[in-house]
Amino acid sequence: MHAFDFMRPGDAEAAIRIAAQTKTAQQGADVRFLAGGTTLLDLMKLNVETPARLVDINRLPFAKVEATPDGGLRIGATVRNSDLAYHPTVRRDYLVLSEAILAGASAQLRNMATTAGNLLQRTRCMYFRDTAMPCNKREPGTGCPAITGSNRTLAVLGTSESCIATNPSDMNVALAALEATVHVQGTKGTRAVPIGEFHLLPGQTPERETVLEPGDLVTHVTLPPPVAGSKQLYLKLRDRASYEFALASAAVVLTLASGRVTRARVALGGVGTKPWRSPEAEAALVGQPAEAASFRRAAEAALRDARPQSENAFKIELAKRCLAHALHTATQS
Ligand SMILES: Cc1cc2nc3c(=O)[nH]c(=O)nc-3n(C[C@H](O)[C@H](O)[C@H](O)COP(=O)(O)OP(=O)(O)OC[C@H]3O[C@@H](n4cnc5c(N)ncnc54)[C@H](O)[C@@H]3O)c2cc1C
Ligand code: SF4
Repeated sequence: MHAFDFMRPGDAEAAIRIAAQTKTAQQGADVRFLAGGTTLLDLMKLNVETPARLVDINRLPFAKVEATPDGGLRIGATVRNSDLAYHPTVRRDYLVLSEAILAGASAQLRNMATTAGNLLQRTRCMYFRDTAMPCNKREPGTGCPAITGSNRTLAVLGTSESCIATNPSDMNVALAALEATVHVQGTKGTRAVPIGEFHLLPGQTPERETVLEPGDLVTHVTLPPPVAGSKQLYLKLRDRASYEFALASAAVVLTLASGRVTRARVALGGVGTKPWRSPEAEAALVGQPAEAASFRRAAEAALRDARPQSENAFKIELAKRCLAHALHTATQS
């Protein structure tokens, strides 16, 4: 039996106060915010998440997409993924975000899923989702059976000897390429966290996935003003054409002048333990002609530090081809 708090529009502070009573905002939290529920309720049915108390935040006033004074975009935490993907400003100025969201899950799930919930979705590692198995992320110190077991879909970048789980979100990859900022309200006030610092590498503490502390409520995400004339694309490769997580994906935002790349933002999905921005690929692209050889060099640079597991070495070449193809397709548009 769970205690259930249904928050009304003016109740953000109350929601934070209730959630601050939990011992952690990470794995094992005994109070959870409930948004679309498409991750949380799944994991509760599997007993992977066992919060004693749920705080429904759907009525809080965070369901708007608005322009910011600097010409960027403010996306409320409870904006549904579908509403965001089809928002006219997102389609016009941040197409990579729209494409990434629409590449994920199914129409029904996107109608429920929210910005903050997507940001905080959990790994699909099969051992994490099976309480009969050990898993360092679910129960610290019990071991990581994926390293010697089934790891075909897991990460090749940012892994540790404690955990090799992939961050499964498509939206997060686009947010990384767009240099989004996550805004958090907690017991000590508000703070703005660049997306690259929001998710943590597993290291020795894979149960700790983000910088969130007890009580922290994601209120919104902001995007910087769009880059004029940028070419954007999200490409997702997976085992079947829809309703499947990425084996490898790439989000690219490029600016060209006289056939050369003048600015590049590149992020990868499906291969990293967190949404994987690649400064190496970006540096390899800037100043280079927009042609196949440059794209391949950028892809090599992006995957240089990749470490395969027993079943997923194929992902390294797949991710390289995914990125090179995304760069090629984006620059043809
Ligand atoms: C069958 C299936 C297929 C899927 N396929 C894909 C896919 O291909 N690509 C993809 O990217 N995703 C996929 N997903 C995942 C889906 O995108 C996420 O489940 C969804 O985005 C989560 O959003 P939600 O609002 O439902 O989150 P919830 O389940 O409500 O919450 C998720 C977590 O975020 C926390 N939370 C929510 N809002 C806040 C807030 N404002 N502040 C702090 N914490 C908060 C909750 O407490 C919880 O821990 C799939 C899911 C399913 C079930
Ligand atoms: S990869 Fe991470 S989530 Fe999967 S079993 Fe290992 S510790 Fe658990």
